[in-house]
Amino acid sequence: MPQTVLDKYLTVLGQGDASVMEVSNTTNTKKIGIGMDSAVIPLSRHNNLFLVQTVDFFYPLIDDPYLMGKIAFANVVSDIYATGVTVIDKIKMIISAPTNFTDKQRDVILPMLIKGFKDSAAQIKTTIDIDWMAVNPWCMIGGIATSVCHELEILFPTEAKVDDVLVLTKPLGTQLATNSYIWMKENSDEWKKLEMSGSVTEQNALEMYQAAVRSMAFLNKTAADLMHKYNGHAATDVTGFGLLGHAHNLAVFQKDQVSFEIHTLPVIAGVMKVAEILGRDTKLRAGKAVETSGGLLIAMPKSGVESYVEEFERLTEFKAFVVGNVIQGDKTAKMSEKVTIIEV
Ligand code: MG
Repeated sequence: MPQTVLDKYLTVLGQGDASVMEVSNTTNTKKIGIGMDSAVIPLSRHNNLFLVQTVDFFYPLIDDPYLMGKIAFANVVSDIYATGVTVIDKIKMIISAPTNFTDKQRDVILPMLIKGFKDSAAQIKTTIDIDWMAVNPWCMIGGIATSVCHELEILFPTEAKVDDVLVLTKPLGTQLATNSYIWMKENSDEWKKLEMSGSVTEQNALEMYQAAVRSMAFLNKTAADLMHKYNGHAATDVTGFGLLGHAHNLAVFQKDQVSFEIHTLPVIAGVMKVAEILGRDTKLRAGKAVETSGGLLIAMPKSGVESYVEEFERLTEFKAFVVGNVIQGDKTAKMSEKVTIIEV
């Protein structure tokens, strides 16, 4: 559902202005937006302690259940990492079996989904449990991630300053990269068009898919860890609303009169070519391509950004990218007049 529609429904909660909500306990009061990545709830009887929680689920986008489990896990915990919290105490898994599965399909596929999810949980030494499992027309997979943490562990996403820079910790283009591979396997009309162009091979489709899956399954934990070290001022994760959509959502919550300007789009190598052939490059160039389990978008002081990018790369073997600037403005996000696209 579009963010504007979601915001409209959130006002039904009685907050009046959906963009701001007060988070407080006896010792502190913070403003945080509803519609941000996680619920941040002060524990009324425990000073400085907060419950940080998120719920997310989606439908399989690839046909490898084990990897799908890993992607679903990364996607769930990403909303916690976006708040700067890096220790997750518990995850409840949400999973449903499609009604049209045979018993045999269900018995093979669901354990693989669960194993992928569980193996990623083991990476960050958190435990998962499953309370119930529903049968549903579609397979759904996701979870509820919970952390109880001290106020100092949370980076309230409201502090972006003029002259900060914007860093993105995963490349864009996951949807087209994944779809290209599926189109190839199904020999769909889209694939025929790509193949006929003579510039997209089966090997290209496989490489794009592998890059996208690797990226989607990668946890945003190190990205969050380093935000503390390099003084991150505000962050969110990039998913269904695309880079620009999430940048805008984050801009709305800033205390200062700032805007975010995106000047660079790091895109998975080959995706732009696919987009051009299929006539879908406008959305990608506009920063509006839908992402799954994308990176963190972080506003941070310019002085630390080079070290952040260098250290992130050293610790993870993935890359982080400088994608924009924080300028004086009216709490919106926009694309620069000249956008640089880098293939990664
Ligand atoms: Mg989010």
